[in-house]
Amino acid sequence: MPTTKFCPTCQLDKPFDPTADRKSRESGFFSLYACWDCHDARRREAGAKCKAKEMLEDLEGFKARHNEASARAKAKQKLADLEDFNARNREASAKTRVEYDAIHGAGAFTRRHAARASDTEFKRFKNRMRVATRRAFKKLGMGKPCHTEELMGCSWAEARYHFEKKFELGMSWENMHLIDIDHDMPLDYAKDERDAIALNHISNLKPMWKSDNRSKGAKHCKVAAKAFVDKIMALK
Ligand SMILES: [Zn+2]
Repeated sequence: MPTTKFCPTCQLDKPFDPTADRKSRESGFFSLYACWDCHDARRREAGAKCKAKEMLEDLEGFKARHNEASARAKAKQKLADLEDFNARNREASAKTRVEYDAIHGAGAFTRRHAARASDTEFKRFKNRMRVATRRAFKKLGMGKPCHTEELMGCSWAEARYHFEKKFELGMSWENMHLIDIDHDMPLDYAKDERDAIALNHISNLKPMWKSDNRSKGAKHCKVAAKAFVDKIMALK
């Protein structure tokens, strides 16, 4: 005989069949606290939330890919422009270079230009490195044991050179907001201070487009990571 029961979720009296299988649709109630209507509504809501999240992630990935593609394209254009410019000004610029190098020594002109470009951005990169290394140790519940330079095992100038060597087309200090500082051997592996010190060594660091890094995830290979830590710690 059909009867009704109060549903605490929608606060309504809903049809209830006590003889039907519990949780079956015929019983009218999914659980003590929700009629089937309420349960369905909740499922729908959760599904919509999930979908919205997926769409947002898609959008972020799209944005990252778009920014990188445009950075690459811009760099390509810049290179082409530069070649064009150089072709037109080869003689004049060679003269400037020769004159500058005559005063300041061989290669001084090139060095000066390299040093002047993107100093502010490189400072930002230094800060990022400092924060990232501090965080790596904080995660293990300890403070940073030494300066970032000591962790990397090289000076900032050397770190700069190391990264520039590994820049892909379109990467630059100006584009660092699109680039992750990637750990070849994932930082996640670090279980103690020794690991964290080794994994922050410069030889474990390289620039990587953010979306590439995200899709890579943290590949764990404990044996390889342990070998790496031992190798680096033997150098220290
Ligand atoms: Zn209900």
